[in-house]
Amino acid sequence: VKQSGGNDVVFYSSEMDEEYRFKRQLASNLRVALENEQLELYYQPQCHADDKEIQSFEALLRWKDAELGQVPPGRFIPIAEETGLIIPLGEWVLRTACFEAAGWDKPLGIGVNLSAVQLQKHELPEVVAAILEESGLDPKRLELEVTETALIHNPARSMKILSDIKKLGVRIAMDDFGTGYSSLATLQNFPVDRIKIDQSFVTKLVGNAQAGAIVRAVINLSRDLALDVIAEGVETDEQANFLTDHDCRAVQGYMFGHPRPISDYAHIVHPQTPA
Ligand code: C2E
Ligand code: CA
Ligand code: CA
Ligand code: CA
Repeated sequence: VKQSGGNDVVFYSSEMDEEYRFKRQLASNLRVALENEQLELYYQPQCHADDKEIQSFEALLRWKDAELGQVPPGRFIPIAEETGLIIPLGEWVLRTACFEAAGWDKPLGIGVNLSAVQLQKHELPEVVAAILEESGLDPKRLELEVTETALIHNPARSMKILSDIKKLGVRIAMDDFGTGYSSLATLQNFPVDRIKIDQSFVTKLVGNAQAGAIVRAVINLSRDLALDVIAEGVETDEQANFLTDHDCRAVQGYMFGHPRPISDYAHIVHPQTPA
């Protein structure tokens, strides 16, 4: 036990040392992976529930480390955020996804996740503008996904940054909706185009009255606020049926397509190409 500068008592254990060393190794391997272009984007379809037609793709980061194997984003994104690496990493994701989508014969939408840390950077709107310009992607096709937690960290600054980005013609989606603690206020205050119903509600949809009530309420809310809505994590027919019965037309989930390398979806983005 060590007495730190203030009154806080900091505990050290060999386990924490190990966790700390592991994180440092992860951060350093990730930095190398970014420099050597060893990261990859997978693309998951976002569909019309009625005819299953793909309208857009969400880009999801994948990292396979030589020593550690496949490291899930849930593991390395927080570390990238702590170390600041998320700034160049997030820019790489945005640039790669925009250039990719700009090359498709079919002008489908492209969703890109933004980290809370990126949303605190005043330069973000200029970075987005520059990437749109370089890639030639129509701004209307780009949808940036932000979480409520990211926005409420510094609401005034996030607000300014988001409205500057929206002026470029880019869409904003509220990711993981319902899992933060100020969802309704956030919707009122931020220029959001679409709500993404979190998969934790969708998963429980069948046989759980509360989850059903929440999902119905979110769908109605988005209609009343004239926002688009999409449900995430749709895995079963029952879930999909519930959603369409309640007028949620856009869906994303394993049932409609897993995140995969874009080459697996070549026949979708280049409809002339034989599958
Ligand atoms: P998210 O943005 O909420 O992404 C959805 C996650 O759910 C993805 O996990 C996706 O693979 C998974 N998923 C999709 N459909 C289903 C389904 O039907 N069932 C289940 N059980 N899961 C489904 P993934 O790819 O592991 O990403 C996890 C999180 O990591 C993402 O959650 C996002 O917060 C973050 N992330 C991924 N890529 C990026 C990125 O490029 N930048 C940032 N800042 N965060 C990213
Ligand atoms: Ca997302
Ligand atoms: Ca989500
Ligand atoms: Ca999530």
